[in-house]
Amino acid sequence: MWNRSKLKQVDPEIYNVIQKEGERERFQLELIASENFTSSAVLEAQGSVLTDKYAEGYPGRRWYGGCRYVDAAETLAIERVRALFKAEYANVQPHSGSQANMAVYFSSLKMGDTIMGMNLAQGGHLTHGSPVNFSGMYFNIVFYGVNRRTEMIDYKEIEILAKKYKPRMIIAGASAYPRKIDFKEFSRISREVGAFLLVDMAHIAGLIAAGLHPNPSPEADFVTSTTHKTLRGPRGGFILCKKKYGSLIDKMIFPGIQGGPLMHVIAAKAVAFKDARGKNFKVYQGQVIKNAKALGEGLKKKNFRLVSGGTDTHLLLVDLSRQGISGKEAEEVLDKAGISTNKNNIPFDLKSPFVTGGIRLGTAAVTTRGLKEGEMEKISFWIDEALSHTKEDGVLVRIKQEVKEMCRRFPRYKISSPHRGLPMGEKGKG
Ligand SMILES: *Cc1c(COP(=O)(O)O)cnc(C)c1O
Repeated sequence: MWNRSKLKQVDPEIYNVIQKEGERERFQLELIASENFTSSAVLEAQGSVLTDKYAEGYPGRRWYGGCRYVDAAETLAIERVRALFKAEYANVQPHSGSQANMAVYFSSLKMGDTIMGMNLAQGGHLTHGSPVNFSGMYFNIVFYGVNRRTEMIDYKEIEILAKKYKPRMIIAGASAYPRKIDFKEFSRISREVGAFLLVDMAHIAGLIAAGLHPNPSPEADFVTSTTHKTLRGPRGGFILCKKKYGSLIDKMIFPGIQGGPLMHVIAAKAVAFKDARGKNFKVYQGQVIKNAKALGEGLKKKNFRLVSGGTDTHLLLVDLSRQGISGKEAEEVLDKAGISTNKNNIPFDLKSPFVTGGIRLGTAAVTTRGLKEGEMEKISFWIDEALSHTKEDGVLVRIKQEVKEMCRRFPRYKISSPHRGLPMGEKGKG
């Protein structure tokens, strides 16, 4: 168990950092689409003695002795995640989403092979072929994007590109795409050109677990994910695949690209997978989507343009060109008003990735706090007010105060999940 008073004695500087970050979480509205708040049960597992154990290998076949208990933890994680996504095979050892993707590429591609992924500038992820990432350095990338008019994935275009370039692998999945993704279409195109299909569901894994977005497991050869976004687990990754690729994937994770697994994190993943099977989790994810829609409607009333006109998920991409400000400036101004967001390129953006013409918003974290549609409307007013008074610190300070009051009414852990409570050291502090 954590004992923060011990930490305070031993290392007051780090203790202070954690206290401050706790305060930031408590009194800011977290609208960063890739973030969420873990339960105290997840934190407890992740802060446990399992961090001490070396366990290279897999349950029942390790390179170290004394693994019987960590074997049990990893087996639970594997069984639970397989059941959750109806997958044939699972590896829960990837330290992150990026390492999950690396393992899939290295297990089934050769250097220089052609792969197709979504353009980073139109919603894709760095690991889907960006030139600054290993994926873009080691493989020949063909990017697909969204349709200029609808701002949605254009399956016709993907089919044409796939037939022309004959990729070894097609990657479906995104970091800044607000709409449902049609995995059946991706599967059809992949089969047609003889490509592997990898679905990277990092952002939407929680929605899929709750049955609110189609599940890619039946369609895809490989599925990768993070555990810490909508899925609300510890920071980490996992891979699902068809049984015939299982041993290739296992060997590529260890000894291929990782050493000892993080058994404390794997135990915490197991806790999150269990939570995701419950009825409360379905209710939670349903509210996440309702909140994203409500936030989007609120912003539209205030003359903001939403990329693709709206959302089917937890995520919104807001075009700020009508407001005449950049994403960078909006991120800074909203931060002063106690609202945490990130700048993001919108499709066909003329601004650089450092400036950007938009911001990305997500409702996973604020929904964990218990916020509902009424609060979303209020937040859309605050966003509009802040972005119409970017130079008026008085207005921003006042909004920050109002945000703080709303946060006070919705403590970080006050949610429906059965195994949540106030973490140690936070009792009675509002
Ligand atoms: C977040 C994300 C990842 C990478 O996750 P990390 O754990 O940060 O490495 C990979 N793919 C997609 C689509 C993501 O959104």
